[in-house]
Formats: sequence, C-alpha cells, structure tokens
Amino acid sequence: MTAALAPVQPADTATAGRHSNTFLRLKKKLERSVGEAIADYNMIGDGDTVLVCVSGGKDSYTLLSCLLALRERAPVDFRIVAMNLDQKQPGFPDHVLPAYFESIGVEYRIVTEDTYSIVKDKIPEGKTTCSLCSRLRRGIIYRTATEVGATRIALGHHRDDILETLFLNMFFGGKIKAMPPKLVSDDGRHVVIRPLAYCAENDIARFARAMEYPIIPCNLCGSQENAQRRQIKAMLQGWARDYPGRIESLATSLKNVVPSHLADARLFDFAGLTRQTQVEEGDTAFDPPELPRMGGETVRFFGISSGED
Ligand code: SF4
Repeated sequence: MTAALAPVQPADTATAGRHSNTFLRLKKKLERSVGEAIADYNMIGDGDTVLVCVSGGKDSYTLLSCLLALRERAPVDFRIVAMNLDQKQPGFPDHVLPAYFESIGVEYRIVTEDTYSIVKDKIPEGKTTCSLCSRLRRGIIYRTATEVGATRIALGHHRDDILETLFLNMFFGGKIKAMPPKLVSDDGRHVVIRPLAYCAENDIARFARAMEYPIIPCNLCGSQENAQRRQIKAMLQGWARDYPGRIESLATSLKNVVPSHLADARLFDFAGLTRQTQVEEGDTAFDPPELPRMGGETVRFFGISSGED
C-alpha cells in the first residue's frame, strides 16, 4: 500500500516564492543559525563525514538543505551522506526519499529494517512503543554510521524540541536537563550533533512549506505524540504568543548556567563556601535580579555573520 503524502501546505504569503526577499531572508536566517551552532560547538571539521538522518519530516529536510548550502561555502571540506531508515510501518511511501535524494544529487543510504513488526510483537497493545522503537532505530543508525565511515551523526532536533525536553525533565524528572547540541552516542563510538539547535520550529515550518518538501506523515506507526510533550508544546506556544522574547530568553538561559545560584552541591561547593570564595556572580540577595542581555556578539563561521541583517 502506498500512503498518501501529507498534503503540502500552500506557501503562505510570507514565504510565497523561493525568490522573494522574505524567503531569502528566512533561508539566510536558518543557515546563519546552523552555522553559529556548528561553530559554537565545533560540530563539523575538515574531513568529517556527516550522516544526516532524514525521516521525511520538515525538520530533517531543512537540516539537510542547510548543511548542503553551508558546505558550498564552507572553508572546510566535509562529506554528507543522507540516510533514511524504512522501518516498514504500514503505508510508508518508500519511493519518496530515494527520489528526493536523487533529485538533489546527495549521496544517500536507505536502510530497510522491519522494526515495526518487532515493536508490535514485543509491546502489548495499548502500551507506548516509542522507547523500544527508538532504541532499535538508534542501533541501526549507529551501525550505518560505522558502515559509511561517518564521524558525525546529524539529527534534526531544533530549539523548541530542546526547550520542550528541558521542561519535560523539570516537570516530570526533577532535573534541569535538555538535549545537548553535541554528545557522544551511548555506545561511545559516535558523535551526535544537532545543527538546528538554534533554529525556531516556526521558521523551519515556514521554510519547509515554501520548499514544498515531500513530507511523509509521522504517525504511520499509529503512536500518538506523548501527551505530556503535547502539553508542554502548547505551554511554550502560548508563551511565544503572549510574551514576545520569552522563548528566545529561555533558549539563551541554557547557555548561561550559574551553578553558584542553583542548589546542586555537585556543581558548586556550597559546603566549602567561605567569604573568600570567588563566585561568578556576587551577593545580590537583597537586590532585584539583573535581567540578562539578549543577543550576542557577532560570530563568523562558514563566512556567515551571526549579527542581524
Ligand atoms: S512515534 Fe512511532 S516511529 Fe516514532 S519512535 Fe514512537 S513508535 Fe517509533
């Protein structure tokens, strides 16, 4: 059975036309954000092979496009291999991604593994399947990375995914923990990067609509998005609507952690604190808190400036 592709939304007036100034500004903004994240975390260097995981959703298409565009003007030489894992979910349109990769001329691997049947077999009906499914998928991605000689595995998580994870962990896990832009894989053999870490989901969605990517629906497995994540997404979207700048400030806060002003004794020696202890920020207990400065200095990477146009 061939699934109908999710209808491509008509490009809104803001992004209509891939040659409009609005679209070109959006493209530049995304590429600049990706360039900054790559530079800030030293994600990609000369000679790297980057395995880009493409699911057929808006985020991974955008990730691939930005990396290909940046490679064109990068002062370093790196190889990109796009990868899709066909998990044999019912109705998965397995012709779409090979045709897309061919059309843009990128090197690619399609890996077919019936993890869907394994998951259905092992997990009782009604129970959530995502943890086993993603464990299996992770193993296959790591194996493919080794096979193609990849030194980096690029995933399409963006700024809003990272913030949702932060709040999920705070609300339900009792931890201040998000998704890092760069990490070592749990098998210790690969470096995983998230080059969209600074990109807003809304910008990615607008870009993807204008690009008219052949989007593959993400609900083929029949699993619903986690209800808690859905609630947090709605909370963040509400804040973005009602309090302009709040989401940007939250994202900035992940880069400005002050251990002496939290309460984790593993990160700061509260027990050994004396009047002589040097702290990053002094005693402001009786003063109103200073609001952090938004924005940052101009960074250059791949010839792209992080400053505003
Ligand atoms: S939503 Fe479906 S495909 Fe995605 S991890 Fe969960 S079970 Fe797997």
